[in-house]
Parts: sequence; C-alpha cells; structure tokens
Amino acid sequence: MKKISFLISVLGLMLFLSSCFKNKGSEFDEPDYVEPDIAYDKAVFTKGATVLYKIDGENALEFRVGDLKSPVILSSPHDGIFEPAGVDDRDHPDGEIVRDIYATPLVVRVADTLEKRTGMRPHIIINQISRKKLDPNRSRDESYLTSYKMLDAYVQYHQYIKIARQIVKDNIGKGLYIDMHGHGHDKDRIEVGYMLAIADLNDTLTNKYLDLKAGKSSIYGIAKTSDYTFSDLVRGDVAFGTLLANELLPAVPSNRVGNKGPAADNYFNGGYCTLAYGSIAGGNISAIQLETDWKHARKDTYDADLKAFPQQFGGGGIARAIIKYFRLHFGMDMEK
Ligand SMILES: [Zn+2]
Repeated sequence: MKKISFLISVLGLMLFLSSCFKNKGSEFDEPDYVEPDIAYDKAVFTKGATVLYKIDGENALEFRVGDLKSPVILSSPHDGIFEPAGVDDRDHPDGEIVRDIYATPLVVRVADTLEKRTGMRPHIIINQISRKKLDPNRSRDESYLTSYKMLDAYVQYHQYIKIARQIVKDNIGKGLYIDMHGHGHDKDRIEVGYMLAIADLNDTLTNKYLDLKAGKSSIYGIAKTSDYTFSDLVRGDVAFGTLLANELLPAVPSNRVGNKGPAADNYFNGGYCTLAYGSIAGGNISAIQLETDWKHARKDTYDADLKAFPQQFGGGGIARAIIKYFRLHFGMDMEK
C-alpha cells in the first residue's frame, strides 16, 4: 500500500509540475488529437465560388469560398429568416429561437474590410434558415431538430465549416475561425468566447486558475506555443478583446477596467461550433465566438435602397483587430 501511495504522490507531483509549464498540457495529458482530413471537391470549392445548399429552390445555406490563401473563416448561424415549408418550429423549452439581427451583414462587412486591407477574402458560411427551424450552433442532441429536412441542413452546415477548415489546413496550415453572433444583453460590449468558465474569468486579481486553463480553451493551439501567459492572451494587452477595445469596440474579456471579466453580468463564453472547430484538443486552427452588441457592431442603419449599412463601423474594427491578432499570434502579416 505504501508503494502505491508513494507512486500516486510521484504521479501527482509530475502532473503538478507539468501544469507549471506555461500554457502546456491539454486536458487529457496526451499528445494532441490529430483530426482526420475531410475530402472535398477542389473543382467546386474554388476561390470566389458561392456553394449553395437549397431547400425548395431557396438558398438555405451558403459557403462563400474565400481566397485560398486566407487563414480566416467566419460564420453566421443565427441571422436567417427562411422558413422552409412543412417544417415545424423548434418548441423545446431549452431551444433558443431569437434571431441575431444583422449578424450576417456584419460578417460581410468584416470580410469586405479584410479583403480591402489584405487582398484576401475570408471564407464565409451563412445559415439563411430561421432559428425557429434550425439552430446549427448546438450539438445534434441539443439542436432539437423537428424534421429530417433540418437534419440534412444541420449536417451540411457542419460539413461546410469542416471543408473551410480543411482548405485553411491544406493551404496555410494554421488559422482562425470566428463564429459571429449578436446578443441582447444589457451591456453594450462584444463578448469574446473561448469556452472558459466564468468563475475563472472573474478571478481578475490573481489569474491563478485562468493561467492553468489554456488546454480547456478554443485557442489552445495559439497558447501552447505562445510566450505570453494564458491570462495575457485572454485579457492582456495582446488579447483579442483588447484589440477590439483599441478599435473603439468595448469587449469582455479585455484589458479595460470593468471589462476584464464578465463579473455578474450576462456573458456567452462560446457555443458548440467554437468548441468543435477550435483547437481545444490540439491542431493549429483556433476558434473564437464573438457575441456582438447592437450599438457598436450591428446598429440599425440599414439603407433599404442601397441594401447596405453605410454607417456601420463595427465590421471594420473587427477586421482590423483580426489583422493585428494574426501579426501578434500567428506570425503572419496579412497586409503584406
Ligand atoms: Zn447567436
């Protein structure tokens, strides 16, 4: 028995020591998971192509293939208004059905600015189906699908994200997937989600727990090779939230007083796609969920004649933050 308890102490000490190395160690203390490659038709998913998934002749899902050298993938799962015939509403009490109004035009604005500044248009995946019928940002068990038609669309949406990641893996080897949403919370700030526990984010004084949580985050692929502490990556000067704040887009977590953690306010820490398509289990494609506020990012300045948002500045700021993020954490200057 003594031998066993000695062994347990040694193992415990080894685990403790391995957790002391900055940002190292995935959740399972195993080598990173190597995900299988996804097959796709390179003649279909070509630069600039819009690949459509139609239901009853209507555009239900869109994969707007970007520049093959772009390391950025954007998605908009909750701004759809298309209600396919014969599909019941999702009426499960846990099934959220609120629309993220103008999240899709915001995504397009981010893409336009990225293209203008870098010459590379990002990959975009859009769900045009109403959230009343389909919520693709859930695991299949929690999506509360009401028909096989929606199951097919659900599978296709995820296939598009997987193909976009494969294109980035094939051409660049590393990248960032940003899942774009809109929230209706009281505070006008962008909520940046990395799948981190709110309690850890709220320990803003010591960072004691947060600094050990790189391996439980959707940006583990960045953290494991970074010279920055994990709390720096989450709310230091180099954090994505801080880069947004520098563009006059208040964000939490960031280095700004009052926005270092969510405190007692509502905050979304990331959904299913951020969990599934980031680097929590390894790999070099990380993910961030952006829950944008109305005031700074999706303000209702839609011009029905122009079919455009001439006053909306949130997208430009998000794009500039993305470019800086790649310079800081991927060693890539996209503006060159
Ligand atoms: Zn949403």
